[in-house]
Amino acid sequence: MKYYSLNKKSPVINFKEATINAQAPDMGLYFPEKLPEVSNALIKNMENLPDAEIAFRVIAPYVGDCIPNLDLFDIVKETVNFPIPLKKVGNIISSLELFHGPTLAFKDVGARFMSRCLGYFLKNEERKVTVLVATSGDTGGAVANGFYDVKGVNVIILYPKGRVSPVQEKQLTTLGKNIIALEVDGTFDDCQQMVKQAFIDKEINEKRFLTSANSINVARWLPQQFYYFFAYKQWKEKDKQPVVCVPSGNFGNICAGLLAKVTGLPLGHFIAACNANDIVSDYLKTETLVPKTAVATLSNAMDVGNPSNFVRIIELFQKQFPALKSNLSSYSISDTETIETIKRIYTQHYYTLDPHGAVAWLALERYLGQFPDEQGFILETAHPVKFPDAVIEATGKGVEIPLSISSIMHREKETIEIMPDFENLKDYLLA
Ligand SMILES: *Cc1c(COP(=O)(O)O)cnc(C)c1O
Repeated sequence: MKYYSLNKKSPVINFKEATINAQAPDMGLYFPEKLPEVSNALIKNMENLPDAEIAFRVIAPYVGDCIPNLDLFDIVKETVNFPIPLKKVGNIISSLELFHGPTLAFKDVGARFMSRCLGYFLKNEERKVTVLVATSGDTGGAVANGFYDVKGVNVIILYPKGRVSPVQEKQLTTLGKNIIALEVDGTFDDCQQMVKQAFIDKEINEKRFLTSANSINVARWLPQQFYYFFAYKQWKEKDKQPVVCVPSGNFGNICAGLLAKVTGLPLGHFIAACNANDIVSDYLKTETLVPKTAVATLSNAMDVGNPSNFVRIIELFQKQFPALKSNLSSYSISDTETIETIKRIYTQHYYTLDPHGAVAWLALERYLGQFPDEQGFILETAHPVKFPDAVIEATGKGVEIPLSISSIMHREKETIEIMPDFENLKDYLLA
């Protein structure tokens, strides 16, 4: 499998180079040259196959000959070694719980897959790679955990001081070894801006090989297809295609789901659930994508004003707006509605949604209100314990911290504090 840059001004490369470089020299995102077809045998037999086997069959064509089958199977098996249950919550809505991984974030799957691929590619090489990442909370923990102790890779995470939840902060700052947390006295946007500048700074790039572990990296983006296959495996009424509702920020996750659908997985309509950051809802009405400055909401992992993966969705539908529109709808949900939804679902079904899942729930309800014969599922992308303030406000109750997390809550945090200024980051990277 070869990958081309969506800006079309860089050479095509294989999966290995796309993983190591993350982005093309022309700043475009990489996209698979030829989309593989999901085999009928896989779809028919899915219920009898272990998750690892399904995941392996899905990802193998995208990796091509860059990793031998046996090694790839091991990587995939480690990536998905935790449950991803589809739970029926209401009569017509189920919740695909993606928060049972080591950091309770759906990003665990992509981060674990990417880290293991990168580790594999660098095993016999001299070069050391620095993964540089800015986080508003969830990405950092998943990346830190995924890359922990991977040979040849150093991870530097920038996060805004005092603006991530206590659980998230512990996940970022207590691992040590090859994981370094920079606590930036500023906002997430400051962190992101500093990282962006580092990627184009000549001096830094002469001294260090930087790469990105956000969803622009194909090795993080593509394995997200697994969720949709696992959901289909557990979907009982196979004669009715489920509507799929995805809480969306940078649109990497939903883009992977649409890729699974376009290549043959029998899923119904897709819904991008958004908070107040609603540029895709506008796009679906007007056919023009107008980036906005992100506004802060309770579902902060979706506070994105210019979703980086949306260009991939446009490409997936070959730039045909009607085709895209017939597969995808979007709803924008306010913070007030988010809290009301957490409260209502807790009261009605005794099920605790996190703010991202709540945005998805209400968006799916809106759609199903118009199409009452249909059923669907949401992707519940984070454990409610990561967003305790919203959950307590809505339900009046705290969320019990799972065992896997309570052990790290006692550990000492280790960070390097820096000012929100690119020169400080640069000094650090050159030192
Ligand atoms: C990252 C994240 C999202 C958004 O995913 P995208 O792939 O960026 O659209 C949604 N919910 C949670 C909890 C996240 O961490």
